[in-house]
Amino acid sequence: MTPAVAAPVLGGPALPQRRSLVTALPGPRSQEILDRKAAAVASGVGHTVPIAAVAAGGGVVVDADGNSLIDLGSGIAVTTVGNAHPAVVAAVQEQVARFTHTCFMISPYEEYIAVAEALNRLTPGDHAKKSALFNSGAEAVENAVKIARKATGRQAVVAFDHAYHGRTNLTMALTAKSMPYKSGFGPFASEVYRAPLSYPYRDGLTGSDAAARAISLIEKQIGADNLAAVLIEPIQGEGGFIVPADGFLPGLADWCRENGVVFIADEVQTGFARTGAMFASELFGVVPDLITTAKGIAGGLPLAAVTGRADLMDAAHTGGLGGTYGGNPLACAAALAAIEAYESEDLPARARALGDILGERLRALAAADPRIGDVRGRGAMIAAEFVDPATGAPDAALTSAVAKACLAEGVIVLTCGTYGNVIRFLPPLAIDDDLLREGLEVVASALAGV
Ligand SMILES: *Cc1c(COP(=O)(O)O)cnc(C)c1O
Repeated sequence: MTPAVAAPVLGGPALPQRRSLVTALPGPRSQEILDRKAAAVASGVGHTVPIAAVAAGGGVVVDADGNSLIDLGSGIAVTTVGNAHPAVVAAVQEQVARFTHTCFMISPYEEYIAVAEALNRLTPGDHAKKSALFNSGAEAVENAVKIARKATGRQAVVAFDHAYHGRTNLTMALTAKSMPYKSGFGPFASEVYRAPLSYPYRDGLTGSDAAARAISLIEKQIGADNLAAVLIEPIQGEGGFIVPADGFLPGLADWCRENGVVFIADEVQTGFARTGAMFASELFGVVPDLITTAKGIAGGLPLAAVTGRADLMDAAHTGGLGGTYGGNPLACAAALAAIEAYESEDLPARARALGDILGERLRALAAADPRIGDVRGRGAMIAAEFVDPATGAPDAALTSAVAKACLAEGVIVLTCGTYGNVIRFLPPLAIDDDLLREGLEVVASALAGV
């Protein structure tokens, strides 16, 4: 095959940290590659940024035409530690030359065990913990549910309004939004129930009132005796970066403990320094029984985990958990390097500092422009919700127009939310302050221009 790009461009922090557009987007080389995508790749696999990436690092993504875009998405909260982080690159290079696979279920290796040890140590709570590794967030969620069912002997699972847990059959059932995630893909897995969330901007409830509302529904419509697990994102990701009111998560977790229900925190998007803590559960003072992680765990290599109470994790019989690739050695080597960087570079503090810049600029924008109804989030996971100022109704058209205008100016922003009216900011923690500020000025002028 002829590579589309003659000279390879190396990524990582050595890439010039600047926004620079040398063509309109997509440029001719990207367009060629995107034409091949249209012909060769199933249309169900969409894309938001009309470029073909060739390198990334620090706070930029470079495309096949040499355009350098400011990255405020981190490939959906994955390259939190920085794209092509030098320590991750070195660890993977060392590992790939030694061995690429044995299957952990055939011949175990130390790298997997070291990742499990790190997760057991870093996740909230000082109780005895164990972990199991998988390939994707959805797979981790599926396995957390399997473990909870086996441990409790119960079947029902509660998920919440606006939840996103993945695209496999069980996780589609757990996910709230029909388009694009579920529509036409049923039938869905059974014994999944939906409870109301705490959404302070829209429901005005205190955390304890919102928890009481959810618990009442659970008790009346399911019954604690039938319930294996309550599954929740501490801060919702795809659902719109909804931060629950204080007291909501502890209220649910306490009720779960009193009723023998497994409390599962899905930290696939919030995990690993993103929210200013290593895990978002810490921000709300909850210690989950099980926690699912993926996205930020390995600097971009595919890896996911379930970590939690050793007694629950050991409930599944030998051979009941696993998979051919789960805990692949390259992904584990990357995770060990990424985790070392999260800790030694104090990246939770970096996330808080970036969050201050984001929050300050977005709140100033919101104060001057009533089309921004809410600015919320924690650390480097901040969102703006766009509304019709007269009615407060979600404004998806404005949101996508702002996002499009940002892209055209070389700033990658992602939208989210059940109503598609939220722009979320997930910069890599390796971004420069000035580059982030420049990106936010582009957002401000995009908003002013639409
Ligand atoms: C992305 C995401 C998932 C699914 O992860 P995949 O790796 O895409 O399968 C599950 N839960 C949450 C909260 C997510 O953000």
